[in-house]
Amino acid sequence: MSNTNKKRSKQAVTRSTAEINSSTTTKFDYGASWEPFRGCRFGCKYCAGNNNSVEDANHCVKCKAFAPHYHPEVLNLIPNDTVISVCGSSDLSFCDYNYFQHMLFKLRQHQRRHPKTCYLFQSKQPYFFGIFINELPPNTILATTLETNRDEDYGEISAAPTPSERYRQFLNLDFPQKFLMLDPLMDFDVHVFAEWIIRINPQLVYVGSNRHPSKLLLPDPFSDKTNALFRTIECAGIKIYYSETYIFKEDSCSP
Ligand code: SF4
Repeated sequence: MSNTNKKRSKQAVTRSTAEINSSTTTKFDYGASWEPFRGCRFGCKYCAGNNNSVEDANHCVKCKAFAPHYHPEVLNLIPNDTVISVCGSSDLSFCDYNYFQHMLFKLRQHQRRHPKTCYLFQSKQPYFFGIFINELPPNTILATTLETNRDEDYGEISAAPTPSERYRQFLNLDFPQKFLMLDPLMDFDVHVFAEWIIRINPQLVYVGSNRHPSKLLLPDPFSDKTNALFRTIECAGIKIYYSETYIFKEDSCSP
């Protein structure tokens, strides 16, 4: 049995009692990546880019340092795919406004030739997207990450806006197509976190877990809490996708 199948069968044991819809095991397709801007200064401890583990075919020093910078040579090289992840391994809120507007212009041109393509933008400072809300191409999906609802000690993990601030920014974005990533999911308060997610009402939620538990200690939630959260938000009609590496644990007896 493959590792993936082992995880799925473990999931079946744990989640059958939760009567969770089997469609939630569907893999999410991030599509192709287009990165005319790269970098971030939020310094999340779990970030691949921040840990210099992103492959850089161009041997770019700034890519290696993950400093915010530009690759205008790829502005005209938008890949053809059903989903385009726009600078998905960086944080767009560090992008210069004029440059970002130019990227949007290129995407609107691309969208006219490929009207079925979706464009996925993500930032831990979703307020940034509000500035350009009327310039986004059709079929845009706006995304942010909420690892937890807890602000306390969050500064030890990342310099990004606190979870509560990020929640407010994302909630206040007047945009119909939202995507929420709980990745890596960290310990949370079920009722508060579920209420946040249901109020945001994203089109889908993506769940991931700490990819390097042997190197980085993050506050993992107990599985009975995660199951309660997943069940609550699915009952609200919100679809959940799981990272291929997400590990479903057996129910625990946490207090
Ligand atoms: S905000 Fe995103 S790109 Fe920036 S350090 Fe954190 S995970 Fe990496």
